[in-house]
Amino acid sequence: MTGSNVRKQAISEVAGRKAISGPALDQSPDSLFGCNVFNSAAMKKHLPKEVFRSVKRTIDKGEPLNPMVADTVAAAMKDWATVLGATHFAHIFSPLTGGMAEKHDAFLSPDGEGGALGEFSGKALIQGEPDASSFPNGGIRQTAEARGYTAWDVTSPAYVVDSTLYIPTAFVSWTGEALDKKTPLLRSMQALNRHTQRVLKLFGHENPAQVVAYAGPEQEYFLVDRLFFLARPDLLNAGRTLFGTNPPRGQEFEDHYFGAIPERVLAYMVEVEHELFKLGIPVKTRHNEVAPGQFEIAPVFESANIASDHQQLTMFTMRRVAVRHGFECLLHEKPFAGVNGSGKHVNFSFGNSTQGNLLDPGDTPHENAQFLVFCSAVIRAVHKYGAVLRATIATASNDHRLGANEAPPAIISVYLGDQLSDVFDQLKAGAAKSSRTKGTLEIGVDTLPKLPRDAGDRNRTSPFAFTGNRFEFRAVGGGQSIAGPLIALNTIVAESLDFMATKLEAALGSGKTLNAAIQGLLTELANQHAAVIFNGNGYSAEWHAEAEKRGLPNLRTTVDALPVLNDPEVIKLFDKYNVLTPRELHSRYEIYLEQYVKTVNVEAKLVEKLGKTQILPAALRYQRELSDGIIAAKAAGLSTSTSLAMEVTGLITKLEQSLSALAEAAGHSGASLLEECKHLRDKVLPAMLIVRGNADALEGVLADDCWPLPTYQEMLFIR
Ligand code: ADP
Ligand code: MG
Repeated sequence: MTGSNVRKQAISEVAGRKAISGPALDQSPDSLFGCNVFNSAAMKKHLPKEVFRSVKRTIDKGEPLNPMVADTVAAAMKDWATVLGATHFAHIFSPLTGGMAEKHDAFLSPDGEGGALGEFSGKALIQGEPDASSFPNGGIRQTAEARGYTAWDVTSPAYVVDSTLYIPTAFVSWTGEALDKKTPLLRSMQALNRHTQRVLKLFGHENPAQVVAYAGPEQEYFLVDRLFFLARPDLLNAGRTLFGTNPPRGQEFEDHYFGAIPERVLAYMVEVEHELFKLGIPVKTRHNEVAPGQFEIAPVFESANIASDHQQLTMFTMRRVAVRHGFECLLHEKPFAGVNGSGKHVNFSFGNSTQGNLLDPGDTPHENAQFLVFCSAVIRAVHKYGAVLRATIATASNDHRLGANEAPPAIISVYLGDQLSDVFDQLKAGAAKSSRTKGTLEIGVDTLPKLPRDAGDRNRTSPFAFTGNRFEFRAVGGGQSIAGPLIALNTIVAESLDFMATKLEAALGSGKTLNAAIQGLLTELANQHAAVIFNGNGYSAEWHAEAEKRGLPNLRTTVDALPVLNDPEVIKLFDKYNVLTPRELHSRYEIYLEQYVKTVNVEAKLVEKLGKTQILPAALRYQRELSDGIIAAKAAGLSTSTSLAMEVTGLITKLEQSLSALAEAAGHSGASLLEECKHLRDKVLPAMLIVRGNADALEGVLADDCWPLPTYQEMLFIR
């Protein structure tokens, strides 16, 4: 029988599915929250007072970890985890692939007398040595020196999942070079802390608490029934459909967004939230998204390092729980052509426990002046290093989304909203005028206008928008780790604050008052960086032209964006703030290019394979059926038309030709990694699209019972 059987069977099984209720809530939500986490409360309960205080100093104040406490903490952690059913422990880390990696060891060790002893030493807690040779290192690690170490990150709490105690760690080479995303994230937070403190001190704050970056990532995702997913080798292997025509009814009715959540999906969401709550991940919002089959989940923001670990854990949990509900959770940026893709809005701010959120305009003019300094620092950073931000979101998959009239364009600009833009416009002229009193005012005097807490209008087309008390970086990819964008944000803002603090310190040193110094600096910055501010429609063609005039880079593809990491200025930036050495940065450039090559190559192979082994055979069968029909009709003396058979035949020829052209293009490789990427972008991806065009045309004319792959209609609407 024909290949459509799998598809037909999947449809009938999916139609009969019922919502699966998750584990019964056996405890109240507040006792559930964090019950599997070795958090402050658990530490307080299980650690001797002195040890607890010492660990807390490291977590809250960034003091060096006292290695003397490790044995005690390890023993307490093990006892705590054992009660929760843990038999193993694992150092978990974030290699440059963007995923998570872990190696499990049992607590039990043979005692030499035929028995076994449960043990977990301080040394095993602090340091691990995973066999790390198969993680990408971009030339940092020679095979001869293949050692990699994991080091306990005390600031991100350990937790239990299933029977394993997970310990968040940084992953470095034997030379101490970062092989992961956590190490530079922690370094960038230190840089941000250092230079924010300098500015806070200028504002007269004595002993400000440690400054941290905050992040709140909103995650978009698709749910597709797992039976459809398994019948689509492209989804299974590439995470996105490489073939498929849009359903007659797509997202044009705009009735999915914020609509009622389907029952099976709701049951899934409830269980995801239950699991995340146990892990102390504060998920808060859930709703449908714009595209059919698309949804969103968002936690309450946390310190960037923890938010980043939690985001990885959230993606992992979403995927895992989906399978239990007969779904596959797709985090790819563009699983379906012609349907909105999935992004991650990374909400970003910074602050501390003594001054609060430094991007909050506050209620008083004095706070406003301080706010304007921090806000200007971010604007300057994004203007100066927009290309770096662009590079941190450059992946083969995000290329399908950025600039596709649904996600922000690849041009990095800042949306401030009308009111705040107005304040900056006034600063350009030398001072901010109060909209209420119309007088010309000096920064810091009482009559400075109260700034809006909520920027009012939302602008969905902006890649980087101020939203009341934070910036929202909207161009981040749905499947991406948020660590990369956060590393860049922390570093570029630290650079701005360093620049500003140095200027202000010099001005004060030469006898200027603080107000005069700030006033002068804000005016200078407002003028120099006005070009990055744009409140209009980011999708419009006029904006592309205008942005070019303003000198804003438009790095359309990954291949355009990644070379930014080789720019001497960028190398200097990351080196100066001790975030990434030139070698570490270069290794990232190489690894991300390699990933691009691997991704596109896999996709090209899939297009060839599916084209040849599923679509072409289906078309040939249908062609035979049609010609048999024509012969039979003629024999029976019936009039008959050959036009459909001709159309199918024409498409078959085109499909065959395009498959050969693709094979030809994919057979080449470039002289260098970058050349290879260019070849893939300019020759292979377009060749894949031509195959797709022909295959999709066939999908439009073939008898439905010949079509082998679950259709968009089925994947997006049946659940
Ligand atoms: P919207 O969809 O309107 O942008 P959501 O409520 O879905 O808003 O998500 C907003 C995200 O921003 C949440 O994760 C929230 O915790 C986070 N957030 C709020 N305030 C801050 C802040 N000061 N710094 C960082 N993130 C924040
Ligand atoms: Mg949202």
